Amino acid sequence: MLKLNDPSLLETRAYVNGEWIETGKTFDVTDPATGELVAKVADLDVDATRAAIEAAHAAKPDWAALTGKERAGYLRRFHDLMMENQDDLAAILTAEMGKPLAEAKGEIAYGASFLEWFAEEAKRVYGDVIPGHQRDKRILVIRQPVGVVGSITPWNFPNAMIARKLAPALAAGCTFVGRPSELTPLSALAMAVLAERAGIPAGVFNIIPGVDAAGMGEELCANPKVAKITFTGSTRVGKILMRQGAETVKKISLELGGNAPFLVFDDADLDAAVDGAMIAKFRNNGQTCVCANRIYVQAGVYDAFAEKLTARLATLRPGNGFEPGVTTGPLINADALAKVEAHIADATEKGAQVAAGGHRSNLGRTFFEPTLLTGVTQQMRVAREETFGPLAPLIRFETEAEAIEMANATEFGLAGYFYARDLARVWRVAEAMETGIVGVNTGLISTEVAPFGGIKQSGLGREGSKYGIEDFTELKYMCLGGI
Ligand code: ADP
Repeated sequence: MLKLNDPSLLETRAYVNGEWIETGKTFDVTDPATGELVAKVADLDVDATRAAIEAAHAAKPDWAALTGKERAGYLRRFHDLMMENQDDLAAILTAEMGKPLAEAKGEIAYGASFLEWFAEEAKRVYGDVIPGHQRDKRILVIRQPVGVVGSITPWNFPNAMIARKLAPALAAGCTFVGRPSELTPLSALAMAVLAERAGIPAGVFNIIPGVDAAGMGEELCANPKVAKITFTGSTRVGKILMRQGAETVKKISLELGGNAPFLVFDDADLDAAVDGAMIAKFRNNGQTCVCANRIYVQAGVYDAFAEKLTARLATLRPGNGFEPGVTTGPLINADALAKVEAHIADATEKGAQVAAGGHRSNLGRTFFEPTLLTGVTQQMRVAREETFGPLAPLIRFETEAEAIEMANATEFGLAGYFYARDLARVWRVAEAMETGIVGVNTGLISTEVAPFGGIKQSGLGREGSKYGIEDFTELKYMCLGGI
């Protein structure tokens, strides 16, 4: 049984229109590290989704009418409550998702940072005054909230993916209906408990857990009262939502899959590059959309880098995220495990060598050994598809041009990383990389102060930073005549 300082944060009912809802139907949330039941959660259907949309729609005018500073006050309180309850929120997160407790605590702080940031930005949704095009005309531009926001989020960051969306939405004056992943609804419901305690008015923030992902998603996309869909998840589902939203011309923001390249040039600080690769690859056990998926190493440093990385892999300690010292948790489910195994099998059949790991861990369940493959080529699945697991494939390259060509040979374009010290090369490669985010001499790029998002088939829109609120506002231009 999960031990919390405040057991009321382990909420299993849905939160709609300021009320806690039970439906008579529940679904199980299990701990991926043990397979044990964590909680039975209210299972909402399409009708309940519609009711939540109605509530958000009804709450919209009053919420939008508040001043930015008033909305900032609510978000600030929400932030403070999240940080005051950081330990409990982290424990709930680890129980349902499996990441080590220290990483879960980091995620809560990261999620809360968006509430703080957008509380500040709520006061700065500026318009513009444009010199008129005729003598008797004056032109004003204001920004208004888009309206009801429908959010669909994944299991890999059960708190932060919601926080990144709800914070700019509420700051801009939008109301929010969030469908969390059916694998990790408890973190979302704990956030709803805190939203209520922060005094956020009924209907402004709703959380609708349920297993009917397709049905609920379709309702959010088709319902004319939803103005915008914001989604983080696979490119496959992102495309479905785009298609479904077309009928009502939904505004849409998508944070989709990545296939991040990580380049190590001859002039790199190799130890720093190894540190960066460890973070970029093994954080969240490889289960983030910005995880390094393909590691390209220049011929002159290839062997030395492989040796250093192999040594570092041996320092990782997979295990139950609640145990002290554990560095990587289990994979989320059997499908995730099967994908890692398939990528290794495909690569080794085509000539790659296993330099470390390569097998299921003797911890059982969905634990997998941190793995390093050398001699990987562009023809292998691991170079083309996102692995989403603890598998680092090394690919050798000779020239800068060749490395850039291989790095960009993908339909994805979320994050890219490289290590180099030559200033001209740093500029050249950063500009040539076809990604929305470039980490130069760092493996850690996520922060609320910078715009996170992808190009190509990795998505639309940006989350975080001063740009992040734009996706939740519409520009209105007023032409004042007869002056
Ligand atoms: P992941 O690989 O991260 O699980 P998915 O795109 O499958 O990515 O899932 C992300 C979120 O989208 C989850 O909350 C999931 O339940 C939801 N989802 C899955 N299929 C659909 C769908 N057809 N329509 C709407 N949401 C969906």
